[in-house]
Amino acid sequence: MSLTAEIVAIGDELIAGATVDTNSGWIARALEKLAIRNVRTQVVGDDEDETARAIVEAAERADVVLVIGGLGPTEDDRARHAVARAVGAELVHSDEAFDQVRAWYARAGREMPDTNRRQALLPQGAAILRNARGTAPGFALEFPTARGGRLIASLPGPPGEMSAMFESEVLPRLAERARRAGGGTAMHRFQLLGLSESVFAERVGDWMARDANPLIGSTVSQGVLTATLRARGADEAEARAALDARVAEFRPRFAEWTFREMERDESPRIEDALGPLLIERGLAFTAAESCTAGLIAARLARVPGISAVLGASFVTYSDDAKRRLVGVRPETLAAHGAVSAETAAEMAAGAAAAADARVSVAVSGIAGPGGGTAEKPVGTVAFATSVDGAVEAEVRRFPPTARDAIRDASANVALVLLWRRLTS
Ligand code: ATP
Repeated sequence: MSLTAEIVAIGDELIAGATVDTNSGWIARALEKLAIRNVRTQVVGDDEDETARAIVEAAERADVVLVIGGLGPTEDDRARHAVARAVGAELVHSDEAFDQVRAWYARAGREMPDTNRRQALLPQGAAILRNARGTAPGFALEFPTARGGRLIASLPGPPGEMSAMFESEVLPRLAERARRAGGGTAMHRFQLLGLSESVFAERVGDWMARDANPLIGSTVSQGVLTATLRARGADEAEARAALDARVAEFRPRFAEWTFREMERDESPRIEDALGPLLIERGLAFTAAESCTAGLIAARLARVPGISAVLGASFVTYSDDAKRRLVGVRPETLAAHGAVSAETAAEMAAGAAAAADARVSVAVSGIAGPGGGTAEKPVGTVAFATSVDGAVEAEVRRFPPTARDAIRDASANVALVLLWRRLTS
């Protein structure tokens, strides 16, 4: 039986919306690698009663409870009090925890305020979790319940401190527990272009049932559908076998739309795959961007080392810029308009020539909210890719959502189209 977990994230700023709770998602993904399933995340304010109640509820259901935040030195940081209350333990001063807080101040060359003494208070019987990046030590303790032993770990809120502590101090404990409990998971991802989520669901049929194994989940973002297949089994090998069988069935059924397959740790962002591919093959890249106005270049520029292949890129917003910078012919613009496969094709070819690049992409579209016509409504976007002089162009239609959503989807799809040409 694989283990379950619940997360309790603490912070007034989280429930007020001033800070987005990124820690819980990070932890849930880390747990998944150990075949531990996060079954619920609760977000509570800096309130001892609320937090204690959330912990008790979580421990009723889940084997592991992860409490995040509220370990600071101030009076409103109540995580340690809440955990102690939930498990019925006394809070006691720990010399070892105090030494760690003091050592952090000594390393930082700062004097320790007296309020930091509070950070040495731990529920009786708790083990200290070392904080490599900040003052607050975390702690872990076993919590017996009628349904069996629970593990509670309390970690600090700052994401850098939390993740470092989780990896070095919590993960080994959880891995050991997960090993004893048995159970394994395996995961595979497909990314598809040109298929709506409802048509996808129809074609997938009962593979998507809530209790299916493997379970298939789908999300659509920036014009791309991502399907995640997740299998469970008595151990890793059993999960892997169930997954491999479904992947083998999935692949031919969706081959027409699939442009990428991924194992669990790969980044789903297309530039993280395309950038290294361009660098590895030494393919100089450029873009001519109208409605995306630099988004494509900016996304590729996230990739370290991209300067090896990205020398120049063009924002050609006006017709005049399309003519002067990337050599689109006035006749083409007059005959087909700026948002057309013909114009996009000339933009891609002209950009490649102007930047002396072997591969290029071009985008010209109507991001709205104004500017749409019956023939070319908002969301109409022309794309072109050029690979060693061979140009392909097409017009796609995105739903007429928000301007930025259309621009983001256009940049993403342009990169996907180039990826598809270079990998198929
Ligand atoms: P500290 O010792 O720094 O006070 P703490 O454990 O008390 O640590 P909090 O005071 O709850 O942590 O939060 C510290 C910082 O971490 C805040 O800037 C907060 O916005 C951020 N933070 C807290 N929880 C989360 C979360 N779940 N996701 C993202 N950021 C968070």
